[in-house]
Amino acid sequence: MDRPTRRTVLRGMGAALGAAALAGCGDAEDDPEDDGAARVAVVGGGMAGVATAWLLDPTVEVHLFEARDVLGGNVRTAHVDGPDGRVAIDMGAQYYNPRVYPTYARLLEHLGVATAAGEGAVFAAPGTVTLTRAGAEQPTLVSPSLPERTWPLTESWNQPAVGAFAKMAEGARALERDDVDWSLTVADWLPSLGVEQPLIDGLVLPWIAAINSGSVTRTLDFSARAATIFLSRALGDGPLESVIYYTLTDGMGAVLQAMVDACSRLTVRAGAPVQGLERRGARLRVHAEGVAPTFVDAVVLALPGPHAAKALGDLGGVDATRAALEGVAVYEATLALHDDPIYVPAEERLRSLLNATLTDAHCEVSMSMAEALTPASDGTRLDLWKSWVTHRAEQPSALRVRETYTHIHTNPATLRAQAQLAALQGEGGLYFAGGWTAPFDAQETALVSALDVARRLAPTSSRLALLG
Ligand SMILES: Cc1cc2nc3c(=O)[nH]c(=O)nc-3n(C[C@H](O)[C@H](O)[C@H](O)COP(=O)(O)OP(=O)(O)OC[C@H]3O[C@@H](n4cnc5c(N)ncnc54)[C@H](O)[C@@H]3O)c2cc1C
Repeated sequence: MDRPTRRTVLRGMGAALGAAALAGCGDAEDDPEDDGAARVAVVGGGMAGVATAWLLDPTVEVHLFEARDVLGGNVRTAHVDGPDGRVAIDMGAQYYNPRVYPTYARLLEHLGVATAAGEGAVFAAPGTVTLTRAGAEQPTLVSPSLPERTWPLTESWNQPAVGAFAKMAEGARALERDDVDWSLTVADWLPSLGVEQPLIDGLVLPWIAAINSGSVTRTLDFSARAATIFLSRALGDGPLESVIYYTLTDGMGAVLQAMVDACSRLTVRAGAPVQGLERRGARLRVHAEGVAPTFVDAVVLALPGPHAAKALGDLGGVDATRAALEGVAVYEATLALHDDPIYVPAEERLRSLLNATLTDAHCEVSMSMAEALTPASDGTRLDLWKSWVTHRAEQPSALRVRETYTHIHTNPATLRAQAQLAALQGEGGLYFAGGWTAPFDAQETALVSALDVARRLAPTSSRLALLG
């Protein structure tokens, strides 16, 4: 098959790269490897970077640079021993839902992981919730899950919280239904729910903090829609419909691996953090640790904004891009996989899939792996807990895995920076992909951003059509 040359692909990039690129695309520029083929560097090997590489391949030769020794980014699948052998546990990104993730669902279908309706190597569990104030004997809330768990509806201590939770869910649904501006903050939205202040402070706000990795204060200037979107989109239309929590039996890492395996013109450079870019005529030169400088025709920055700003190094003429990248706010979260149930109520019937504990300033979740994962063939379930431990006073003692991740803080400043980056997409050969480029960070948004970049860089790529 005839490969597109740099000239044909650059013509496809057209307006984005500009006439200067086309004029200079014949220059060898002291690149000993230059064979005239179009070449793109992708910086960052998370979902967005890997998906971009997969979408561009084989139309374009892709060099994928990842700082860590393994690909995945926030997708990190650990393995533990179970009765049937190795069990995959996603430590970072784990949840998906065909209703919330239509493009990701099509990818799973194409890769043979699951049908678009979410059947296949997928486990679906009710997304039940317990929220307890630290030190309290009895939780503030234990959610019902119909038809199996009805008792929380009948306990008088639980009823005010169930009512407040339902109002929050309905309010979240309304944000989506009414297409409310993303810049409405949680602080400005909460009073409209009609929930009494003690339940706002003791339940609603902490719960929204919990699903955004824990800080109550940081949650106040979060985009209300972004902060609640998993809840609102995963819910059905009726008030009694539960959230269904879908996980992939082989883990999300297997999806990334399947994409890498399907590529024929991809070079992966893991353990090679990009330290700077340099403009050489119409091309860019990528400087990464431990790798000879690589000439490329375009660079896709598939790593959170502030990390991408660092990867630019001393590259000149990109002040607006650098400022917008630095304008995306991020924070870190640490998660632990452990055996000891230290963050959940002692009484088993009060436990849920997601168990949140509220202290004065933080509310973090401990997730039951027994509930979240496919049971073994003999029916046994893994008695393990995945807990957010960034702010915990006490750390688990029976620790299996501990990992730190980068989150996007979707506040009004981040939304402005994202809008600026969208306008700068492709300028000077720099492209942006990642969950961090959209108001809410998910496998779906990372994949959609990769599609956007691939459409610009390789509009003839056959894989574009697979995802619609
Ligand atoms: C704790 C946690 C839980 C989450 N849970 C879910 C979930 O259940 N479902 C869901 O859909 N989404 C979830 N998300 C969101 C998830 O992050 C996104 O779905 C998606 O994985 C983001 O992918 P990305 O490629 O945009 O970025 P990332 O995954 O952040 O990838 C960026 C990559 O760039 C690399 N990098 C950084 N600096 C450099 C450099 N200088 N040179 C080269 N490489 C570099 C990083 O090492 C990283 O691998 C979760 C996020 C977190 C943090």
